[in-house]
Amino acid sequence: MGLIPYKNEVYLDWSDEKNVSAMQAALKDVEGQLGGSYPLVIGGKRLETDGEISSVDPSNPSRIVGKLAAATEREADMALDVATGAFEYWSRTAPEARARIMLRAAAIMRRRKFEFLAWEVFEGGKPWNEADAQVAEAIDFLEYYAREMLRLKDGVEIYAIPGEESRYFYQPMGVGVVIAPWNFPTAILTGMSAAALVTGNTVIMKPSEFTSVVGAKLMEVYEEAGVPEGVVNFLPGYGSEIGDYLVADARTRFISFTGSMKTGLRINELAAKQIENQRWVKRVIAEMGGKDAMIIDDSADLEAAANDIVKSAYGYGGQKCSAASRAILHRDIYDEVLGKVVEKAGALKIGAPESADVNMGPIISEPQFEKVLSYIDIGKGEGERVLGEDPGDPSGGYFITPTIFEVESRSRVAQEEIFGPVLSVIGARDFDDALRIANDNPYGLTGGVYSRNRDNLERARHELRAGNVYFNRGITGALVGVQPFGGFGMSGTDSKAGGPDYLPLHMLARTVVERF
Ligand code: NAD
Repeated sequence: MGLIPYKNEVYLDWSDEKNVSAMQAALKDVEGQLGGSYPLVIGGKRLETDGEISSVDPSNPSRIVGKLAAATEREADMALDVATGAFEYWSRTAPEARARIMLRAAAIMRRRKFEFLAWEVFEGGKPWNEADAQVAEAIDFLEYYAREMLRLKDGVEIYAIPGEESRYFYQPMGVGVVIAPWNFPTAILTGMSAAALVTGNTVIMKPSEFTSVVGAKLMEVYEEAGVPEGVVNFLPGYGSEIGDYLVADARTRFISFTGSMKTGLRINELAAKQIENQRWVKRVIAEMGGKDAMIIDDSADLEAAANDIVKSAYGYGGQKCSAASRAILHRDIYDEVLGKVVEKAGALKIGAPESADVNMGPIISEPQFEKVLSYIDIGKGEGERVLGEDPGDPSGGYFITPTIFEVESRSRVAQEEIFGPVLSVIGARDFDDALRIANDNPYGLTGGVYSRNRDNLERARHELRAGNVYFNRGITGALVGVQPFGGFGMSGTDSKAGGPDYLPLHMLARTVVERF
């Protein structure tokens, strides 16, 4: 297939008035569509259910973004049947044809970019630049996985012995259940589903209950791009109601999950149990939480380090698995860096992200708001709060201001994933101590070091226990195809989304040998 070489989608330039006007127009247009209803889509048919999910605007929870049909076990069963049937056809569809559909989906999403951004603003509470980065990432996943499938479609070279031909190639697996979180509603749902689809599997796509309208929009893109009926099925619903059923069912071949450690471990356990009529060991691809650290040593550019700590800790209010939630500062530069971080974080503008100048929007939901508050209370008992205020009444939006605690590294706020704008600052005696503190945590997703000391950087290159390690820059915003993303330890099953090893996780490798 003749394709231009892969390159990342360019971010929008907000100093260009044309982009600002297009975004304002999209916000206005989407605002007029708020409150709409979205059915399930199973086998191309739209289905209403008795249950309903009300997805609200976290900046203004009385405003309903959309009402979604909520699947029960009955509809989950239907979707599993339909996806099983569609696999017969889709698994035999040429890889080139599947890749073309993904490329077309990318083109459609690119054309609808401002609209997607606007839905992200209303449903996800994303500031414009965060929404843009995320939709760009979704487009990148579609473009990159299409090309990856073309690279892998004939298998890979192996050796043979005289008189024989040996072939090693990949085949689709079956029905994949794709379960997504709310924090990257477009990017992660698109990435996980596109990888499963382009490799020839059929998919049951379950978005987060907090961002299912964006999921419905992705379903529209797939339908328009030409994914055949039943190959992808849209199944919004509560994890607690349909999650176990989908994971445990014998028809499910694999589960692709991104979300919390707790849910990921539950899925892993449930998927491991063989039930009647099950004919395979289910595969689980799980990307889970993080408690990501940035180490600043005594040789670092302190101004740049402080800027990147603030960007990494408070981008999307810290609601990124990759967010910096621990800053580990060498004692000789501790006061200076902490002072700069407090000043810069305190200057961020918090508010409803419909406005272009907002740096940080709301927390996604009431339960998440309550969770962050409970950790702020814990932090007040464990250390000193040097930035942040107790939030006001959440009925006006789930807003929490940037918060910083000076704490010991074993304190709960420095050990557990909070998933909000809360940074723990920890002092270190020297670089050894800093590395030890960074690694003393069950997660291992992202990590960073700010240093001009080559020995320290080379040590961290191998010894900082994280799947994605960044030097002298921020630790969030991994680019598809450039910074394959995924963690070690309790951060997941060691997969790397947007990287060269990702698609084979969705396929069966087959060896066929013929003697002549
Ligand atoms: P969550 O675990 O609460 O929910 C994730 C998804 O799982 C949702 O769709 C939910 O409905 C579903 N679910 C809930 N119970 C289930 C069950 N029993 N069976 C099957 N599915 C079930 O996570 P969240 O709050 O939506 O997302 C935030 C978490 O995601 C954070 O921990 C964050 O670190 C993590 N995350 C990780 C990555 C990564 O790449 N490693 C990326 C983004 C987010």
